[in-house]
Amino acid sequence: MNTLENFDSNTSANTDTDSSQQAIKVVGHFIDGGLVTKTTKKQPVYNPATGESTKEVALADAELVNQVVEIAEQAFPLWRDTPVIKRARVMFKFKQLLEENADKLCQLIGEEHGKICHDAKGELQRGIENVEYACGAPEFLKGEYSKNVGPDIDSWSEFQPLGVVAGITPFNFPAMVPLWMFPMAIVCGNCFILKPSEKAPSAALFLAELLKQAGLPDGVFSVVNGDKEAVDTLLHHPKIQAVSFVGSTPIAEYIYRTATASGKRCQALGGAKNHAIIMPDADIDNVVTSLLGAAFGSSGERCMALSVAVAIGDEVADVVIEKLKQEMKQLKFGHYADERNDFGPLITQAHKDKVQAFIQSAEQQGAKIVVDGRDAKPAGYENGFFVGPTLIDQVSPDMTSYQQEIFGPVLQVIRVQTMQDAMQLINDHEYGNGTCIYTRDGEAARYFTSNIQVGMVGVNVPLPVPVAYHSFGGWKRSLFGDLYAYGPDGVRFYTRRKTITQRWPSTQVREAKQFAMPTLN
Ligand code: NAD
Repeated sequence: MNTLENFDSNTSANTDTDSSQQAIKVVGHFIDGGLVTKTTKKQPVYNPATGESTKEVALADAELVNQVVEIAEQAFPLWRDTPVIKRARVMFKFKQLLEENADKLCQLIGEEHGKICHDAKGELQRGIENVEYACGAPEFLKGEYSKNVGPDIDSWSEFQPLGVVAGITPFNFPAMVPLWMFPMAIVCGNCFILKPSEKAPSAALFLAELLKQAGLPDGVFSVVNGDKEAVDTLLHHPKIQAVSFVGSTPIAEYIYRTATASGKRCQALGGAKNHAIIMPDADIDNVVTSLLGAAFGSSGERCMALSVAVAIGDEVADVVIEKLKQEMKQLKFGHYADERNDFGPLITQAHKDKVQAFIQSAEQQGAKIVVDGRDAKPAGYENGFFVGPTLIDQVSPDMTSYQQEIFGPVLQVIRVQTMQDAMQLINDHEYGNGTCIYTRDGEAARYFTSNIQVGMVGVNVPLPVPVAYHSFGGWKRSLFGDLYAYGPDGVRFYTRRKTITQRWPSTQVREAKQFAMPTLN
């Protein structure tokens, strides 16, 4: 097992040798308080900025996942019965360790995801805020109490943990999305098994190390790296009580159907197509500045990225496009360690090919490519998975690039004549994750927030990601399940209500036989 002092992406792993005798690191699992690299299957992990692979991730088979569930099941009773203040203290310490180890964590994220350090720090900070919220467990788990609901009868509701729960997370937030889930699950008294993205697996292992250092008992938190086999084993395992998923919509739908069919509680957050309406009265310079970050930040690989600008009227569209064109010339993209860069590469070569194909399809279907990032390559990183910032005008709702999630640094502009037309577009789209309106008109903004069919809405705020003490989720095919992620909905998701009605002293009460429903009349 490794200590924190020497943990890095290399020490999360045993060194293996391939046929050419080149050293390859194997990113393993975190099981029962230690790193394990036992594996039958592996796959390469890339540094997307260079296109090179110097490590592999171990892919757990069903047998290993079953062992992990057993370990978690055994750890559960003691953890469930640990006083909530002690569980919260682990989170306090964990928060402190996250802050102390932020640079190391951001480096791990950069190496495997490619996002620039300043962006990784933002991701981590958002994750830490979920840990801060979890520290309030003694308050939010107090339950509800009513005295004298009947003669000498008191009643209360308490919120009990579910048992062993699992989380399956995407590549694009290797730290933040797991932190949406497990601090809350654990502080509520559950044991948590995390299956991170196999494309960016190391941050999760480091989080596990920090949790152990924070005092979490072994077995309460485990990380199993893996692919479909590991996920399916979790989905079908009878001892897994609940599954949280964040990823693409087709997989979210599959996860939700499979988990609920086997009797599990499930929340599955999916993909997105987030529109910004630009009203004629908006502060256009501000719109342009904020669109740049919201569309191209993190290379557009955010489920809340603004990927469609809906301009009300041609005049607005022309001005915004002209200003964007000028500003986009200044954007820098490249290696994660260079803080001057605005964004990094895409996650894989396959994803780069897909993003390029979307741009091509828009062109073929009649849209105008105003700024074309398809062949952009930062000097020195010619083999990286880069696509430059891309701006597409004259997009229409029948185009593939509009209907599907691109998940790349591509901003599309749609021109409409009225705000109603713009809202209709958004409401008709299959996704309903985030949206935003730019305006100075309070009445328009209020109408928009009341009537738009989207879960997270901004007014002059391009990325309306709810803070940790609210909850996160989309509408329509952006979320399957009834509860949002983290915040107050997270408490409900990771606990089960039990309501107890009690009379003392029972021996002095002589009740008459009563066959009608008991009432106080
Ligand atoms: P993905 O759906 O490919 O993978 C997510 C997870 O599912 C990974 O852990 C992966 O190993 C697993 N998985 C993939 N295919 C599977 C299969 N066939 N069976 C079982 N498990 C499988 O998503 P991704 O590419 O890692 O992430 C990008 C997607 O996630 C985008 O669509 C983005 O919008 C979405 N996302 C949504 C939110 C949100 O809060 N709504 C947040 C972040 C990302």
